[in-house]
Amino acid sequence: MKFNAELDGIKTYEAGKPIELVVREFGIEPDKIIKLASNENPYGCSPRVEDAVSKIVSKMARYPDDSMSKLKNGLSRHYDVEQSEVIIGAGSDQIIEFAIHAKADSSSKVLMNSVTFAMYEIYARHVGAQIIRTESLEHDLDQFYALYLEHAPEIIFLCTPNNPTGDAIDSEELFAFVEKIDSDTMVVVDGAYMEYVKVKDTSKALEAAELIERFDNVLYLGTFSKAYGLGGMRVGYGIASQEIIKALYKLRPPFNITTLSLEAASVALDDELFVAECIELNFEEMRRYEAFAKEQAIKLIESHTNFVTFCLEERQDSTLLAEQLLKKGMIIRDLSGYGLNAIRVTIGTPTENDTFFALMREVL
Ligand SMILES: *Cc1c(COP(=O)(O)O)cnc(C)c1O
Repeated sequence: MKFNAELDGIKTYEAGKPIELVVREFGIEPDKIIKLASNENPYGCSPRVEDAVSKIVSKMARYPDDSMSKLKNGLSRHYDVEQSEVIIGAGSDQIIEFAIHAKADSSSKVLMNSVTFAMYEIYARHVGAQIIRTESLEHDLDQFYALYLEHAPEIIFLCTPNNPTGDAIDSEELFAFVEKIDSDTMVVVDGAYMEYVKVKDTSKALEAAELIERFDNVLYLGTFSKAYGLGGMRVGYGIASQEIIKALYKLRPPFNITTLSLEAASVALDDELFVAECIELNFEEMRRYEAFAKEQAIKLIESHTNFVTFCLEERQDSTLLAEQLLKKGMIIRDLSGYGLNAIRVTIGTPTENDTFFALMREVL
C-alpha cells in the first residue's frame, strides 16, 4: 500500500518503555519495576482526584461536555485569562499538532532547539515542513534570532524548561526575543514543566497571561501530565490570543477529552498544595542526584524541572547503560536517539532514587 510520502521521513516516537513491556521481556515482577523514564509525578495525583473521578464513572455512556466549561473556567481563573483564550487538548501534544497544522504546510519552516521535545519535529513532518535547528545544546536565543532572520520560519518552538536537557530560558531574555519577532510568526512557548521552574528560579518563570497580553503571536502550552500527576488522563491546554485559539479550534475533533479526564484535571487544578508539596520533594531529591553525580564524577546538566540529564562522555555508552538498568528492572531514558551519549532520569520517590543510585553503582 502507498502512504503519504511524508511518512517516509518520520521515525515513530518511542515513548518511555511501559512497565508491562519489561515484565514481558525480562520476566520481572511488575511491583519490582521502577520507571523513571517519562517525567511523571512519582507521588501520583491529588487524592481528591480519585474521589471525584470515582463519583462520576456512571456518566461514561454519555459524550462529554464538549464546551469543557468546568475545566476552561478553572484554567481561566488559574491563569487570569479569558475562556476564549484557552483551548484544551488530549495532552498538550494535541495542541502542538493543531498549531502546526494551523500554521504550516510543505513550504514552511519550523525552528526549534538542537535537542528538544520530539513531537515538534514529528508533527512538522506530517505537513512536510522543513525543520531548522540551532546548534547549542541549551536554548541560545541569539542563535534562534540569527536562524529566524535567515529562514523566516512560520513557527518557532521554545521549550522552557527544555525536555530532555532541563535547562530553562531567562524570562527577560525570552520577552526581548519575542519582541523582535514579526507578528505573523507563531512563537510556541512550551511550559510543560513551568510549575517546577517557578519554584526553582523565578527569573526563569513565565506567566501565560503576561505573555499573551504582550504578544498576539505567542501560544503558551501547559499540561496535567507532569506536576499534576495525570499522565494517564491525557489533558493539556493552549493559551493564546483569541485569533490563534479560533484557528486551532477549527482543527479540534469534537469530544477530544473524556468526561473522566475533564473532571480529574478540574479537581487537580484546585489542589495547589498537593502540587507544591510534590515539587518541594522533587527539588530535595534533586540534591541527592547532584551529590551522586559529583561522587561518580559524571556531568549533570543543571535542571529546572523533575528530571536530570547525565552526560556520560567517555564513561559509558548510554544505550548499553540503559539496557543494563532495564534488565535490573529500572527504566530510564537513553538519549542516543537525540544524538547524545546521555541518559535522562525522572526524579522519583526517595526509595526509587535509592534503588537508582544502588543500581548505577553496580553497573558503572
Ligand atoms: C510531556 C511533555 C509534553 C506533553 O505532554 P502531554 O502529556 O501530551 O500533555 C509537551 N511538551 C513537553 C516538553 C513535554 O515534556
